[in-house]
Amino acid sequence: MKHIYGPVSSRRLGLSLGVDLVPFKTCNFDCIYCQLGRTTRKTEERREWVSIEEVIEELKATLSHEHKIDCLTFSGSGEPSLNSRLGEAIREIKRLTTIPVAVLTNGSLLRSAEMREKLMESDLVVPSLDAASQRVFEKVNRPLPPLKIEEVIEGLRAFKKAYRGKLWLEIMLVKGVNDSPDELQMLKETISRIAPHKVQLNTVVRPPSEPFALPITREEMDKVKVFLGSQCEVIARFSPRESSPLEHQQERAIWESIQRRPATIKDLADGLGLHPNETLKYIKKLIDANKIEAISFGVNRYYKPIKKKER
Ligand code: SF4
Repeated sequence: MKHIYGPVSSRRLGLSLGVDLVPFKTCNFDCIYCQLGRTTRKTEERREWVSIEEVIEELKATLSHEHKIDCLTFSGSGEPSLNSRLGEAIREIKRLTTIPVAVLTNGSLLRSAEMREKLMESDLVVPSLDAASQRVFEKVNRPLPPLKIEEVIEGLRAFKKAYRGKLWLEIMLVKGVNDSPDELQMLKETISRIAPHKVQLNTVVRPPSEPFALPITREEMDKVKVFLGSQCEVIARFSPRESSPLEHQQERAIWESIQRRPATIKDLADGLGLHPNETLKYIKKLIDANKIEAISFGVNRYYKPIKKKER
């Protein structure tokens, strides 16, 4: 499978099957916290980056043996709305199954009326909104210039007004970058303009693209939640969950591979036939267990074993 991955168990979406519509890593942002690493194809070109017919064929094959899927989620190796046939893919999936369809997006392309129309048939859209001021937007998301945060916010507001599904806004909080009282105040005002059904708060709990992108603490997160209001919930997973036997096996394969030589997420995913998003889940566990660490070399981020100090 090249375009379908998982299912992955997620607290907010249940058992979710990932649908990936762009090659690694195609995005019009280069977020400092991006768990996929730096954006190697930074573009706003909308085209059929991967064949929708191929995606649908893979999905049919997966659904013929996976019977407990709660959600089909467009997400993966970059920004899904950069695939010009996203709307057709959603429509085709809705013809195929009654499983709800979710789109995780950076939300920036919703400033176009055509894109808003394409997402209308989905059941859930989860756009990110990490900043309300232009200065912080550029710092945290590093968008392609001349993207203006005000246009993105206006697009989100217009989409929410017309959309019949659910809109959950996700805010990724990065310590010292977008967590100042002024920025949070502006975010609060922006949230009330957009009026999403939920606001989900996250922080940098997986290895980020830039080492200086640090998480806020659970206590800080709880304060932000209270400040932003009752529709907010914390989705950051501060402690790891138990792994299944298959997950243990895959984690072990990644650990063995890293012991042989330092590797990037892409090296590991390609070598082991896993999706980059799944690979990241195991990397995070190995980091939490203090077995591996990240090192930067050029634009790449490599993972290598932590050498134990000799006594
Ligand atoms: S976090 Fe999402 S929007 Fe940001 S660079 Fe990564 S893929 Fe793009």
